[in-house]
Amino acid sequence: MARYKFLELSGDLKTKINNFKLPEKLDFGQVLTPIMIVSNYKDGEWEPARILPYGPFQIDPSAKALHYGQQIFEGMKAYKPSSHQTPHLFRPLANYERFNRSAERMAMPSIPEDIFMQSVESITHHLSSLIPSKDGESLYLRPFMIATQKGLGLSCSTEYIFSVIACPVGNIFTSNNVKVFIERDCCRAVRGGTGAAKVAGNYGASVYATTMSKKRGFDQTMWLDGLDRKYIEELSGMNVFVVINGELHTPSLNQETILPGITRDSVIQMAARLNIKVHEVKIDIDDVLSKIKSGNCTEMFACGTASLITPIALLGEKDGATYQLRHAYGPITKQLRDILIDIHMRRVEAPAGWIYEV
Ligand SMILES: *Cc1c(COP(=O)(O)O)cnc(C)c1O
Repeated sequence: MARYKFLELSGDLKTKINNFKLPEKLDFGQVLTPIMIVSNYKDGEWEPARILPYGPFQIDPSAKALHYGQQIFEGMKAYKPSSHQTPHLFRPLANYERFNRSAERMAMPSIPEDIFMQSVESITHHLSSLIPSKDGESLYLRPFMIATQKGLGLSCSTEYIFSVIACPVGNIFTSNNVKVFIERDCCRAVRGGTGAAKVAGNYGASVYATTMSKKRGFDQTMWLDGLDRKYIEELSGMNVFVVINGELHTPSLNQETILPGITRDSVIQMAARLNIKVHEVKIDIDDVLSKIKSGNCTEMFACGTASLITPIALLGEKDGATYQLRHAYGPITKQLRDILIDIHMRRVEAPAGWIYEV
C-alpha cells in the first residue's frame, strides 16, 4: 500500500501523459517521461516535493555539483504486470536507505523518508499508464541529488536539488554472449574512498577504462581491488557472482569498496531459498581463471537493477588471452533470473517487503 498522499498533477500534465506514446523500442534511459519531481534544499530545510513538466534545470554555472562533483543517485524500478491493476516498486526502502548513506559519505543533507517515498510513489502512480508490462519491462526511476550553491570556493554546498525522473525500459537482456574485460591497470575504488556510495564521480572515473575495453571488443569492465589488484570487485554498474562447483561466490562487501547492490542481496536471499550455497569472500581473479580452465568454474553472471541478471560468457585480458565459461548462460544463472522475474511479475510470492504496492 502506498503510504503517502500522491503529489498533485496539473490538468496540463495529465493531458501530456495521456498523449505520450511509448515508442516500439525502449532503449535504456533514452525515453524520458513528461514529468519530474523536484524539491529544493535551502537554509537547512527541504521544501515539499512538487511535480513539474520534465525539462532543464536552471543552475548557476559555478554550482558545486558541476565543479566538485557533489552528486548522488539511485536506480530503482516500478513494475505493472498485466495481472494487477496497480503498479508496485521493488524494495524501494532499500534504495531510500542507500541514498541517505551515499548522501552522508558526500556530506550532503539526508532526505526525509516522506519526501523520498512520496516522490517515488507519486511518479509511479501518475505514470502508471506508461509502465510496460511484459517480462523484464518496467519503469526505471532515477532519484538524484545535486549541489547547487554557486561559487568556486571548495566547500560543502548549502543548497541542493533533489529530483526524480523516470524512463519506461524494455527487457535489457539482449545477449547470451557478454564479454568482460579484466581491468588490471585502472581501479574504480580504494578503501576509504567512495566505492560503496552511488555517486557520479565513481562513474566519471570509470569511463576511460570502459571506453578502452569497448575498443577491444568487450562489453563490460571487471574491476579488481585497488590495493593488490587481484581480487574481483564488480563491474561498472553491476555486482558479480561466480559459480564454482555448483556454489555461488561473490566478493564480500567488508572493504567498503564495492557498491552494495540490492539485486546482489536479492540473489543471495533467493539462493538461500533454493538451497544454493553462497560464499561472500575475497575472490582471486587468477584462481577463477584457472578454475574456468579446469572446468570447476562453470558460470558467471552480473546483477543490478537495470539489467537484472546478466550471464557472462567470456573473460579477457589485455594480452589477448580469453577464458570462455563452460555455460554462456548457465543453469544456476537462468534459475535465479527466472525467479527474480517471476517475483517482479508477481507469479511467485516474494519475501516480505520486496513488493511495495503503490
Ligand atoms: C547501482 C550499482 C550496482 C547495482 O546495485 P543495484 O541496487 O542492484 O541496482 C552495482 N554496482 C555499482 C557500481 C552500482 O552503481
